[in-house]
Amino acid sequence: MTTMTASRRPALVSRLPGVGTTIFTRMSALAAECRAINLGQGFPDFDPDPALIDAVSAAMRDGHNQYPPMAGLPMLREVLAEKIANLHGCRYDPAQEITITAGATQAILTALLAIVQPGDEVIVLTPAYDCYAPAVTMAGGVVRHVALGAGFRPDFDAMASSIGPRTRALIVNSPHNPSATVWTPDEMHHLAALLRPTDIVLIADEVYEHMVFDGRSHISASSIPDLAARSMVVSSFGKTFHATGWKVGTVVAPAHLMLEFRKVHQFNVFTVNTPMQAGIAHYLRALPQAYLGLPAFYQARRDRFRAGLSATGLRALPSEGTYFQCVDYRNVSDMAESAFCEWLTRNIGVAAIPVDAFEPAPDPDRRVVRFCFAKREATLDEALERLAKRCI
Ligand code: PMP
Ligand code: GLN
Repeated sequence: MTTMTASRRPALVSRLPGVGTTIFTRMSALAAECRAINLGQGFPDFDPDPALIDAVSAAMRDGHNQYPPMAGLPMLREVLAEKIANLHGCRYDPAQEITITAGATQAILTALLAIVQPGDEVIVLTPAYDCYAPAVTMAGGVVRHVALGAGFRPDFDAMASSIGPRTRALIVNSPHNPSATVWTPDEMHHLAALLRPTDIVLIADEVYEHMVFDGRSHISASSIPDLAARSMVVSSFGKTFHATGWKVGTVVAPAHLMLEFRKVHQFNVFTVNTPMQAGIAHYLRALPQAYLGLPAFYQARRDRFRAGLSATGLRALPSEGTYFQCVDYRNVSDMAESAFCEWLTRNIGVAAIPVDAFEPAPDPDRRVVRFCFAKREATLDEALERLAKRCI
């Protein structure tokens, strides 16, 4: 048995001094501790299509178990090139412009490491998914937070005034976590016009690309030539295939950006697990439109959840896309958002995520939390029953 007490502990200066454990990890731990229904961290409580699981298992049995090429299996990159061309009218070269990543989180960090020089500024629109700001910091960049406007819509005046000579990149996330807004075609064209005279790289986090409701379309940065030419577009199979634990994603970008992306990628993961890639490629080849049912699938869950919320004192905000539903709870409680989520988990038995966790300086008067409705109907109904009893 060795003891460490007498040993010298190396002194460290933290790379991320202000950062603790993520809100998702903390709320999931609290939900488990309280045996609460976990509508906090975003993940489905149901499995992927059995045909996809079969395809991955078959890939392992068929010997797809050694390193794939650094950028990902060619067959998967080819299938994706076709998919993106069909959906967005933009043809990416699978050899040079598509890379398979270990999920979107790694893709975003890698993109930033590839393009940010020390002191460069990166604009992050708040509330923002939690990995963006730490990733900018780890890349040596400076985060410029710009608040989204009323209704969590983009505020182009604020964005324009935050652009300066050191602005290297802008991160845009649509459909948006946590607000569940989806940028309109006009907003995407406005963005293109804003960036046109600049050298800003757009990191477009489109992981919820296939979850848009009420007949809306997801407008990818890939679909607007001016944006596509300056964008690294990030996707995640975890969301699209109900497999968040598989951690497989993609980045598509013009060759000059992808060249730099891959220089970093090859030294931070080198490549991504082979059987998942082979399974996903075969599945998408066999069922090229597999994701087309997602809007109806999730819209039905959203509608069931919203209908149930009407029996509570929680007011449902618009949910245009993603698998999140935000609610304004001011008629139920005056607690701040984080405190309310803890109370909800401990006392009502339903976990949620506070929107203030996505911002450095949240509005102290806002009272909004996020639920994830990617759950079985029985899970949603049980959560709603609990909320209807005590959140009135
Ligand atoms: N971006 C957003 C907006 C997300 O919500 C998530 C995960 N929920 C990610 C990135 C990370 O995706 P992945 O699990 O593929 O790393
Ligand atoms: N993106 C998921 C969410 O928003 C969580 C992923 C994570 O735990 N890092 O809930």
